[in-house]
Amino acid sequence: MASNRKSETLLTKANRVLVGGVNSPVRAFAAVGGVPPFIAKGKGATLTDADGNHYIDYVGGYGPMILGHAHERVMTAITKAVHKGASFGAPTESEVKLAEAVAEAMPAIEAVRLVSSGTEAVMTALRLARGVTGRAKIVKTVGGYHGHADAMLVSAGSGALTLGVPSSPGVPAGAAADTVLVPYNDLSAAAAAMEQFAGQIAGMIVEPVAGNMGVVLPGEGYLQGLRELCDAHGAMLIFDEVMTGFRLAYGGAQQVYGVRPDITTLGKILGGGMPVGAVGGRRTLMNHLAPVGPVYQAGTLSGNPIAMAAGLATLAELQAEGFYESLEQASAQLAQGLLDAARAAGLADRVCLNRAASMMTLFFTPGPVRDHAAATAADPAAFATYFHAMLDAGVYLPPSQYEAFFLSAAHTQDDIHRTIDAAQHAMGLVAKTT
Ligand SMILES: *Cc1c(COP(=O)(O)O)cnc(C)c1O
Repeated sequence: MASNRKSETLLTKANRVLVGGVNSPVRAFAAVGGVPPFIAKGKGATLTDADGNHYIDYVGGYGPMILGHAHERVMTAITKAVHKGASFGAPTESEVKLAEAVAEAMPAIEAVRLVSSGTEAVMTALRLARGVTGRAKIVKTVGGYHGHADAMLVSAGSGALTLGVPSSPGVPAGAAADTVLVPYNDLSAAAAAMEQFAGQIAGMIVEPVAGNMGVVLPGEGYLQGLRELCDAHGAMLIFDEVMTGFRLAYGGAQQVYGVRPDITTLGKILGGGMPVGAVGGRRTLMNHLAPVGPVYQAGTLSGNPIAMAAGLATLAELQAEGFYESLEQASAQLAQGLLDAARAAGLADRVCLNRAASMMTLFFTPGPVRDHAAATAADPAAFATYFHAMLDAGVYLPPSQYEAFFLSAAHTQDDIHRTIDAAQHAMGLVAKTT
């Protein structure tokens, strides 16, 4: 294996001053073991670590980097904005432009509130749903990730009842008690929850394509069914499109599946690598937020001009003719190559590859994976072996089986072929050792 001496030294230093050496837990390699490479720079689909090792990147910053790293036009836009000042706490034209772009892109959005992260967008969406309906409870899917607000750090309680319990110390039981858990892709469970708590459900939040239990696609009619359920019960349907927005298509999952949520949350790609989130919906609904309405929400750095510039430059690139078509082609090719590699290694009946456009997950389980229970049946040892073999071969994957990996427009044919070759070798190791 190539040297990772500098990353090791950096990790030792980091562990002294950063909790676990990181600023977000999945980066710590807890699920796979070993030393995370400290990234020095990225260009296109290539990352370079502190020791000078190169990797083909499939983490994509956990979603935002659909154009690849250090994209020329995005860098130029950021540089231009920096020279005009970093933050004003006053309205700027760039916020109007990004809001216009979002409203134009997303079928269910007329007006938005811009924030600085996906977590913040979700917090705002939940408060809006509760403020508008005057109800407290939120329905959430098991394994759905919506950032780290208290009400979302909840797992299913024991027994038949679907009431949530805190999944992290520090989350008050009260915050968790208003979250009702249902399995993903289970329309009748969602219907039962709505019946059981009739008149108390403010809304249901769902990743229209799940990406944070690994990629899990919605079954036929699931999203439409949720739309009808919410309508029948006077509840808000919240699509958390922080990952899927501008990823599945320019108009997100709501465009692909033709289902209009009441409230949409966005982030990741919207900021082009800078901290941006958004919550949007019909203008009449959004007008419940301050300063027009009584539902309070604010942010010192919201609509930050540098972040706006990065987002605007990114969205402009995504509108190029054929952008999503060529990304789809490359993604289909990579997925097929990975499945062929699994077959060649004799693992065809031990893996399940879920893909929605350029986001995918290779589960080490026969599948099908349609919910969190099926996802967590995947073999962690097989994944750790696969992950480290890929890393050694210069392919940088998310260090957990329950993450999506992403293709960007910067991945070349050569990158894809090298990745498939590496996977062939890695799966051979998995077949031999686990
Ligand atoms: C990443 C993500 C979030 C959280 O966004 P942050 O910017 O990390 O706070 C919320 N929801 C979904 C679906 C996500 O993928």
